[in-house]
Amino acid sequence: MYFNNSNSFFHGIMFHHFHDDGIHLKSQGSISKDDFKNLINFIGRKNILSADDFYEKFKKDLLKKNEVCITFDDAIKSQIDVALPVLSDYKIKAFFFVYTSMFEGNPDNLEIYRYFRTNYFSSINEFYSNFYEALNENLEPFFIQNQKEIENKKLKFQMYTVEDIKFRLVRDLYLKKDEYEDIMQKMMKKKKIISSELYSKLFFSKDDLKKLDKQGHLIGPHSHFHPTLMENLTIDKQKYEYEKAISVLSKILNKSKSDFKWMSHPNGSYSKDTLKVLNKIGLELGFKQIMKIEPEKGMKKINNSNLEIAREDHSNIIRLMN
Ligand SMILES: [Zn+2]
Repeated sequence: MYFNNSNSFFHGIMFHHFHDDGIHLKSQGSISKDDFKNLINFIGRKNILSADDFYEKFKKDLLKKNEVCITFDDAIKSQIDVALPVLSDYKIKAFFFVYTSMFEGNPDNLEIYRYFRTNYFSSINEFYSNFYEALNENLEPFFIQNQKEIENKKLKFQMYTVEDIKFRLVRDLYLKKDEYEDIMQKMMKKKKIISSELYSKLFFSKDDLKKLDKQGHLIGPHSHFHPTLMENLTIDKQKYEYEKAISVLSKILNKSKSDFKWMSHPNGSYSKDTLKVLNKIGLELGFKQIMKIEPEKGMKKINNSNLEIAREDHSNIIRLMN
């Protein structure tokens, strides 16, 4: 039984990575076609609304507490190769939230780096130790200083190990973006990897977007560049992130900009200003990346506003199932 006291309210189910026996290797948090089917059955097909129904019912305030929708973030190719056939079998239309710099030949390196650490190291911890070796600094004081933050994050994101959280803190807080990327580029160069050769393997093409749209799935913006922390950008930059994404999508899909009324927050990051910007642009339904109330964001309840709808990460559901 999926629904319990802590998740009986309408929400989204959030998916990122899938694996198969072919080009998409098993990686941290990835699931197989069978896992996906089992998960749908565990939630109960009847509780899963197609994205368009979810949106319509949301607008009319008619969503029931056992109604969920399926959402995919980041335009990751394995979603097309592995998950889409399952959606067709079950006749489920989903939300696909994509960031759009990749459609201008400039995807976020996050996915490239993930591919790198999955395919070129025997384990994630081996990657971490190689990374720390390349960084070559004493991180102990930084970890001690952030002990509380590490504990809080562990409570909030059960799917991460302490090592995962520490690495993310080093990546996002200790290092500046270009410092982090320098180290990654050096490590990749050592293994003779050329990023641009990986794009078609890792990301949606424009044709993938058109196909999804034609099949009735709903595509929405997830920013343009996928910044790590949207909430730290100036209002103008935040506005650009979403307006640019909508403009790229409307061109590829030959739709009006006002057709895009649904979105998800990259890394779940937003501020009150972000919400103002999004409302002004005309977005009506926005998804977070967790199922908890975040008082520090001014949330008073779950599904606090039209742009703060909760989502459960698929890995937490897999844990419930086992
Ligand atoms: Zn994302």
